[in-house]
Order: sequence, then structure tokens, then C-alpha cells
Amino acid sequence: MRGDTAAVASERADIAIVGGGVIGAACAWFLARRGAKPLVIEGAAVAHAASGKAAGLLSPLMPPADRETAALAPLTERGAALHATLAELLDGPGTYDYAPYESCAVARDADEAAALRERAEVVGGEWIAPEALADRCAWLDRPAAGGLLLRSAQLDPAKFTQRLIESAKGMGASLRTGRAAGLLGGPDHVSGVELEGGDAVTADATVLALGPWTHRAAAWLDLPLPVRPLKGQIVHLEPAAAPPPGGFSAFDGQYAVTKPTGIVYAGTTAEDAGFDDEPTPEARARILADVALRTSRLEGARVVDQTACLRPLSADGLPLIGAAPGRRGAWVAAGHGRKGILLSLATGEAIAELMLDGRATLDLAPFDPARFGA
Ligand SMILES: Cc1cc2nc3c(=O)[nH]c(=O)nc-3n(C[C@H](O)[C@H](O)[C@H](O)COP(=O)(O)OP(=O)(O)OC[C@H]3O[C@@H](n4cnc5c(N)ncnc54)[C@H](O)[C@@H]3O)c2cc1C
Repeated sequence: MRGDTAAVASERADIAIVGGGVIGAACAWFLARRGAKPLVIEGAAVAHAASGKAAGLLSPLMPPADRETAALAPLTERGAALHATLAELLDGPGTYDYAPYESCAVARDADEAAALRERAEVVGGEWIAPEALADRCAWLDRPAAGGLLLRSAQLDPAKFTQRLIESAKGMGASLRTGRAAGLLGGPDHVSGVELEGGDAVTADATVLALGPWTHRAAAWLDLPLPVRPLKGQIVHLEPAAAPPPGGFSAFDGQYAVTKPTGIVYAGTTAEDAGFDDEPTPEARARILADVALRTSRLEGARVVDQTACLRPLSADGLPLIGAAPGRRGAWVAAGHGRKGILLSLATGEAIAELMLDGRATLDLAPFDPARFGA
């Protein structure tokens, strides 16, 4: 950490936010809305990583490997409610393809059906018996043991993140391209960001929203902030015939969803591949084979694109939201795993409350960045 006096400050901000993904953008939006003047520092381009390539589904349902926990429920509920509010405020349907969305989580057998019914207690939804499945979810035309129908919404994550940044700029926020290389300050405080190339930004407070690159912030702060990249791939398909609306998900995390453009997103994978974010033919073949076990609706579909990106997965599956322990002036907003788009607004709101009011409306104790030790 470079000391305050050694800093060659080329810019000054009230609040510096490192990372222009959906989490940094949401923090900027809520801080600017409350009258602060945050500066977002993004190393590549806004939403160039997972925040621009995610499926954009706002359903709280997780694949079984990442079981929903009760701890996450208030944040997901608040996140979904804020998405509905902002969609009105920012013309979500017109500017970032915000649309209602219905998805059916399908059970293959009695065990999966029992597990899904149990999960309904956390995430809600309507249980659909096997004989009614094809009527209620036109995607599902293979034998199944029932399904959990959930109503939520979807959006285009790249357009959404851009829209948040543009709207925040309209309220006094600003954006700077630059890669953070360290932090300014001393052993007990942070007073800004050191950039690659020698520039620096001094700031009263700094939010670290680096997604899967949070290990860099951990090193700068000398704190355990265990967030690792988990690669996921999505195949974009143009179906031979008009696809059913909404989508479905399988018990093992596979899904298909019709986007408002008529293109179907089929996903996904969960690959421990470090920071490799290249799409692969093997993943494409696996995704297409898996969705074909649930539906015939994609037979003859043309692959128009394939993306790969990295989820920021924390060691306990819960996000890190709050003050960096022992480092006055530093805040962490990271580790949102598979649900960063859904959780972005509740996170931004909570960070703004913590920073400006000293406390948040939601109980953030389960997400305290200090929980991994000092
Ligand atoms: C295949 C896939 C599908 C998904 N689908 C959904 C979904 O349907 N719904 C949902 O809610 N979530 C979904 N997610 C999860 C969601 O995409 C992520 O949780 C979310 O995008 C994380 O946002 P973030 O801002 O924390 O990280 P990122 O989007 O990774 O942004 C971090 C930013 O920090 C910048 N950065 C890093 N280091 C530096 C530095 N040193 N200096 C400056 N800038 C830096 C990066 O350039 C990047 O732009 C999906 C993820 C994947 C992989």
C-alpha cells in the first residue's frame, strides 16, 4: 500500500469505485442518487465481463449444488423489488429489455421432485404435477416428475449495466478507464487508488467491486477475501420454429430461456478453469445435449453465438458486502456468484446506506467481509 504522502494524485473523488461490472455500477447509482459523486474506475470496459454476458435472469432459484440459504432470501427479495422499481424509473422494457419471465424447474424423478418442493419453501413458486406440465410450460415435452413454476423477470445485463452507469453519470457520477494496481493509505486506512501507469485517485472512501478479480483487493488489503472464478458458458440459438415463451431449468443447473429478441439462451457450465474465459466446443456440445434431454423445441436450431465468462464465487457461497475489517475508508462488494445481476441493486442500496448513514436497512451480518478472519 502506497502512503498518502507518496501519492501523485492526478484526480480526486468523494468515493472511488474499482470495477465497472453490475455491482460497481449499482453502487455508483445508489451513491449518486443519494447526492455523492462517485468515480467508477474500470480496467477494461463497462460490463465487459460476466455482467455483460450473463443470462440476465432475475429468478432466485439456484442449482442444487449452491442450495439457496435462508440468509440470502432478504437480499434476493429486496433485489427483485428494486429491479421492478428501477425498470419503471429507467424505462427498463425500452432500454434494457426488462420483461416478466416464467420458468419451470423440472424434476426428473420422485427424489428431485421432493427436493424441489422443499426449495419452494425458500424461493416460493407453484408446484405443477407431471400431467399438467406440458400445458403450463410448453418447453417441457419429455417425461418428467413435475416442476416448480416461478414468475420473475429477465433483462439484458450488458444494457442494464450501461444504463445504470449512464443514469448515475446524469446524477453526478463519473467513469474513468484505468486499472487499479494498489491502494493509497496506511496500515489502518485507505485513502484512494493507485493506478497502473503511475496515476492515482485520492478518495475519502473506496469501494472494491472487482468481481472474480477480488483476490487482487485481498492482496492490497492483506485480508482473506476468498472469491474465485467459476467459468460458465452460454450458447445463443436461433430456433427453427418460434420458441415457447419463458424457459425451464433442470435439476443439475442446465436451462433454456427465450430472450425478448427471440434468441434462446441455453446454458450453462460450472468449470474451475482459473481466469480462462474462452468458449469451447466441448461445452457447447454438452449444453446442447443436456437441454435436449428436457425439450425437443431446439431441434434444428442454429447456433448464432457462444459466450463464456467468470462468476465471482465466494468460499461460502454468500456475497461480501460491507466495510473491509481494520481498513477505514475501504468497502467490499463482491462474490455474488450466480446471482450478481439479481442481487446488484440490493447490494448497491446497502453499500450506499452503510457508507452514508452508517447502517443498512437489511441485516448484512451474513455478508460481512470480516467473516473469513483478519
Ligand atoms: C454463464 C453465466 C450466467 C449468469 N447468469 C446470471 C443470471 O441469469 N442472473 C444473475 O443474477 N447472475 C448471473 N450470473 C452471475 C453474474 O453475471 C455475476 O454475479 C455478476 O456479473 C458479477 O458482477 P461483478 O460486478 O461483481 O463482476 P464483473 O462483471 O466480473 O465485473 C468486475 C469488473 O471489475 C473490473 N476490474 C477487475 N480488476 C480491476 C482492476 N484492477 N482495476 C479496474 N477494474 C478492474 C473488471 O474489468 C470487470 O469489469 C451469470 C454468470 C455467468 C458466468
